[in-house]
Order: sequence, then structure tokens, then C-alpha cells
Amino acid sequence: MIQFNKWLLIASLFLLVACDQKNHTADDGTAIFSADSFKEHVSVLASDSFMGRKPFTAGETITINYLEQQLKSAGLEPGNGTSYFQEVPMVNIQATAAPTMQVNTPKGNFSLKGYDDYAIWTDKVDAHISLDKTEVVFAGYGVVAPEYNWNDYAGLDVKGKVVLVMVNDPGFWAGDTTLFKGKEMTYYGRWTYKFEEAARQGAKGCLIIHNTAAASYPFKVQQAGHNSSRLQLDNRGKDMKNCDVIGWIPEPIANKLFAAAGFDSTLLVKANKPGFKAVPLNIGLSTTMDVKTTYDKSHNVIAKITGSKHPDEVIIYSAHWDHFGIGRPDAKGDSIYNGAYDNASGTAGLLEIARAFKAIKPERTVMILLVTSEEQGLLGSKYYAENPLYPVDKTVANINIDELNRFTKTKDMVIVGEGQSELEDYLKEEVEKTGGYISPNPHPEAGHYYRSDHFNFAKAGIPALYINPGIDVVGKGKEYGKQQEDDYTKNNYHQPSDEYDAKTWTVEGAMNDMKILFRVGKRLAFSETWPKWKQGSEFKAIREGKK
Ligand SMILES: [Zn+2]
Repeated sequence: MIQFNKWLLIASLFLLVACDQKNHTADDGTAIFSADSFKEHVSVLASDSFMGRKPFTAGETITINYLEQQLKSAGLEPGNGTSYFQEVPMVNIQATAAPTMQVNTPKGNFSLKGYDDYAIWTDKVDAHISLDKTEVVFAGYGVVAPEYNWNDYAGLDVKGKVVLVMVNDPGFWAGDTTLFKGKEMTYYGRWTYKFEEAARQGAKGCLIIHNTAAASYPFKVQQAGHNSSRLQLDNRGKDMKNCDVIGWIPEPIANKLFAAAGFDSTLLVKANKPGFKAVPLNIGLSTTMDVKTTYDKSHNVIAKITGSKHPDEVIIYSAHWDHFGIGRPDAKGDSIYNGAYDNASGTAGLLEIARAFKAIKPERTVMILLVTSEEQGLLGSKYYAENPLYPVDKTVANINIDELNRFTKTKDMVIVGEGQSELEDYLKEEVEKTGGYISPNPHPEAGHYYRSDHFNFAKAGIPALYINPGIDVVGKGKEYGKQQEDDYTKNNYHQPSDEYDAKTWTVEGAMNDMKILFRVGKRLAFSETWPKWKQGSEFKAIREGKK
């Protein structure tokens, strides 16, 4: 009996070991991902006590301390010497605009109401800003694009004037695939570009005509920026070009201005034609703004797992931790912009990815970079890209997460700005291994490739990958998924209602997508290859040192 028992014991031990080995090889490092832990992070980050995670506020302090503590307890090393933080010097610009704007026209004068009829702000730090019967010029798209043979400012002097321009680019509006990139928005279509170009041209002001389809979100998103404070990188001592007044007016108000100037809305259509000439409207705008500035430092949170074989080669996972803080109350009286989906979800995702990489001991260094002030114009990632803590030419790739699918798993995943780099091929293979597929971007006109932090890494030449959740919801299909997405854009995007809801957040989608993004990074972390930009990418020449 004793003999027998001994044999049984040995046999069962052997079986146990064999089973354990089998489980071990079946796990590619993703078994550590936990829906409960992900949900816990989101619920904490998006709770009212985090006050909407606005940089410079108590909401920043509580957020970055939480992130530091989580990364530390996951066993990650500090990413900036002995610190988990990179200081980002910034300025808070609080502009208070006069309640109205006077419009002087040859046919008589009238006034427009701030917030209702226009939303304005400034990137200038002067204490007092004013328009005084400042002349208005309609400058079409406000685009100078030599590669598309397009120049809305040709032969035009807008110094000291206000330019009125259209959002998006001619390819979108004309529905012509030969103009620009057709429906796919180019950087020339982004509002940030419009303001930058107007400033380069010496304009005193730039107002963008809002149209929901072309902007891809409603005017209320812009209204939220009126009379609110905004952040900029602290550029003291640098020669910066900024307009005094920048902002948006809704299309009906633009048409009112055109009518007062003796034009009608067909003027907008004329701007689609190559060779369009800007039109002085012969009207003047007057208003004032008082500006208060505060200089302070915000923080990127940075942690790493040093590579065992190539410690100097770095893979950067990024996500922005910030959102809008406490602002204008919505119809329900809620004034806390919790930003659960945008981007507590991506931040929580990186905390999961951090734990997973720690466990598999990567050969290259994996960096977790949680950046500040994305919502204020991608400022934290811009600061990192301009002041990198690890050499850019030793930075293998960037994988950015901004919003992880909080609901049911989807069969598809969307690559934003498809055709940019070889990272997309890695992603495609990993998605296909799970039985899924890559679907085309349903909103190419929205210019998403220029709307999150990976764009700053791309501009520095680092191959960057950014995905959007898919819409082909398992068991429910594409129509359902699209409806869900449109509903979010219409009702919750950048609104206090972007909240965590334990009942509806099933997070299977997030779990699936973050595992795939982990596998893409894992391939890089155990490889010696360097992913490249593809032919035709505007960032290829930068990586190759030719730009
Ligand atoms: Zn975001």
C-alpha cells in the first residue's frame, strides 16, 4: 500500500507539473489582464473626487499621485531618474470676453451675443485684447498647401484683420476624391492648423465657421471653451506667433455676416474651387477680452520596465490622464467633466498593460507615459516630444490609447490614419489571430490621426499607432455599434455625462483590444527589428533624417 501510494503521489505530482507547464505555454502574458482591476481604475479616476482631472488643479495632484502609486506597486521603475514625473511648464490663460460683439456693416450695425452666437478665446498672454472695428476677410479654408497646389492666402494681406475660414478641407466639402485626400481629413482641415496658419499670415483674429458634419461634433463642444481657462506650454522667451482672438461661429451666424456684406451662402461653395480668391467683407468687428495668466507646472507621469537585452531601445505606450475639470453645468446641473471614456479608460488600460509587461520581462525597455493636457491641445506629449527623456532615434515605436471600448467586444478594430506605418501590419496580424478584422475608419473626415498624442510622436519621426474601437459588435452588428458611437459623440463627448456606469460598462471590448495592443508591443519588445513608416507617409522623411 505504501509503495502504491508513493507511486500515486509521484504520478500526480508529475501530472500537476505537466498541467502547469501546459497552462504556462498557453498564456502569452495576457492572463494577467483583469476586468475587475481595469474597472476599479476607471471608477476611481472618473469619480467626482478626482474633479475631472484638470491640469493645475487639485484634480491633477490626486490623479498623478494615484498613477504614481499604482505604477510603483506594479513594480515599475521611475522613468525620469528617480522620479515618476516629468515637469511640464505651462501657462493658464483665463480670458473673460465682453458679453457681446458689435458688427459694423455698410447696411447698418448689429450685435452678436457671446456663447450663443460665437465662442472665442486667446492663446496670447497680454492683459487686455480688443478688436476695434477690425476688418473681416473671408479666406475660404485658410489653407496654404503647396503639395495640393492650394493657397487661400495668395496675394492677400491679412495683417491686423480677422479671417473667417471654413472647417475641414476642400476634399470633404466638394465631395471630390481628387481634391486633397477626398473625404479623409488632412491636417489642413484641423482647427489647430487654421489658427496656426492665420497667425503665420499675421492675422489679428481667426474665426472658424462651424458645421457639425465637417467638424464632426456639435457647436456646443466649442461653446464650452468660451470664457473658460485654457492651457498652453510656457513659451516665454520664444518667438511665438499667435492671433489675438481665435474661435468659432456657427454657420447661420456666418451667413448673417455674409448677408450683411451683400453675399449669400454660395460664397462657401465658391471656396471649393481651386483658384478661389479671398473676399474682403467690408464689415468690422469690435469686442474686448481681459486676460489673466498663471504660470505653473503640470506633469507627465512616466515609468518603465528596463529591457533585459536592449535597455537603450524604448517602446512608448501613451495615454492622456487629463480631462476638463469642473466647468459649465449641463442641463442636469452636473458640472464635473469626469472623462470616464475619455480617457480614464485608456489610462486604466495602460496600468493593466504595465502589469503585464512587468511579468514577461521584456528585452527592450517598455515605457508607460501618461501625459497631461491632451485636451488642451496635445500639450504634454508635445512637451515630451520636444524634451525627450530617451533619445528619439532609440525610440522604437509609440502605441497610443485614447478611449477603450467600454461595452461588448467588437469583431473589428479601426486603424486611425491607415497606411502610415508597419505597426499597422503587426496589429492586423494580431487582430486576425483572434478571428477579428481591421475595418476602414467610418469617419475619415474627422481627422483623428491629428487628434491625439501619437501625432506628436509621429511629428518627431517615431512610428506611432493609434486605434479606435470597432463598431461590429459581437452578436449585435455594425448598425448597433455605429449608433452607439454616434450617440456618444452627440450626447457625451466632452460633456459632464461622460461617466463610469458599473451597469453598462461590461468592458469585454476593452479587455480584448488592450490584449491585442499588448501583443503588438510584445512583438517589438522581443525583437531587433525597427518598424518603418510606409511609402507616402508624411512622417517617413523625418525618421530618415531628410526633413
Ligand atoms: Zn481623449
